[in-house]
Amino acid sequence: MALSTPLSQMSVALPIGIDGSSGSMIKVQSVSFTEKSCGPLLRLDTVSRKLSLKKRSTVCMSLQQQARRSKVSVTPLELEDPKETPLNLYRPKEPYTAKIVSVDRIVGPQAPGETCHIVIDHDGKVPYWEGQSYGVIPPGENPKKPGAPHNVRLYSIASTRYGDSFDGKTASLCVRRAQYYDPETGKEDPSKAGVCSNFLCNAKPGDKVQITGPSGKVMLLPEEDPKATHIMIATGTGVAPFRGYLRRMFMEDVPTFKFDGLAWLFLGVANSDSLLYDEEFSSYLKDYPENFRYDKALSREEKNKKGGKMYVQDKIEEYSDEIFKLLDDGAHIYFCGLKGMMPGIQDTLKRVAEERGESWEQKLSQLRKNKQWHVEVY
Ligand code: FAD
Repeated sequence: MALSTPLSQMSVALPIGIDGSSGSMIKVQSVSFTEKSCGPLLRLDTVSRKLSLKKRSTVCMSLQQQARRSKVSVTPLELEDPKETPLNLYRPKEPYTAKIVSVDRIVGPQAPGETCHIVIDHDGKVPYWEGQSYGVIPPGENPKKPGAPHNVRLYSIASTRYGDSFDGKTASLCVRRAQYYDPETGKEDPSKAGVCSNFLCNAKPGDKVQITGPSGKVMLLPEEDPKATHIMIATGTGVAPFRGYLRRMFMEDVPTFKFDGLAWLFLGVANSDSLLYDEEFSSYLKDYPENFRYDKALSREEKNKKGGKMYVQDKIEEYSDEIFKLLDDGAHIYFCGLKGMMPGIQDTLKRVAEERGESWEQKLSQLRKNKQWHVEVY
């Protein structure tokens, strides 16, 4: 488990010792971690106030080392019980009023734009499954319908059903702040900034947030076969549902779900400062090399084999033989992110299929029929 990742407000029992040994179990309340470093940014609210900074970083190392070896217990396990997917428990006319727990910027200074990891406390009242979305109604009036609230915006949930605090009471979102730049001057125009993403990224702990949902079935993680292969293709915030899957597979101890298949994540972002949850994913690579693969495409930092920008479809092409074979063997493939990602990916898959003497149209219709093909783009 990568505890130096942007987890927030974890309440978890982990075996740690101040000296780094695997000492006794202590209950750590409200641990906040942020993306880029561990020491100074670590906030162990109830435990570490008494510790010196030096000791804090020792605890941090110890937590990382120990957590890698053991999965985290989750509660309440009744969240595994329902046979039916939770769907639309709260609708736009009667949303649930949840509370913001934390908002953390999770990209580095050189990232174009801003992406935030936002933890929302729903007090266990808006349960969801991995791969679903919440709706958010930003405060204020809908400019197109005076007197009416804003329209709902959907956000993929980036945590498992247990949330980042492993108690089933929170959900996390991965939100990119929508900014508007005048095409002529190149200057930002705050009057045209995205309403909901800015509301969420500017929110403070304790702020109220109106949520609807959960919604969506297309990105639910099929769990019947624990040895299945899951190929996940994400651009930017499209990584959100996959963070949830991967935490379920590799971070949490869920007695009724033991994953022993292959999860393969392709993540496309602009540059290394824009990577999302990279430390968390890298720790799975270290701990589960047989079960996890992680390939990144950094469009502004890397070149594809033709000398152009490295996009996620270039990575897919690089591994196309393996991917096609895995699909032939029943792998699930998921796509999530901006709509614009799909044409390039489809073109690449079609070209590869033709080079292999296969019809992409036939293959795609077979994948759809077999429920192996999952797309959520926005
Ligand atoms: P809006 O206020 O709706 O504005 C939309 C865009 O128009 C913005 O870019 C804004 O800058 C621009 N704009 C505003 N005024 C003008 C104007 N006068 N002229 C021209 N342009 C203008 N997003 C995420 O960040 N993370 C997710 O995980 C995520 N998951 C999603 C899942 C689904 C299933 C769907 C459908 C969408 C998802 N989205 C996600 C997108 C999200 O729902 C919103 O669309 C996004 O946050 C923008 O909403 P907003 O209210 O900030 O922008």
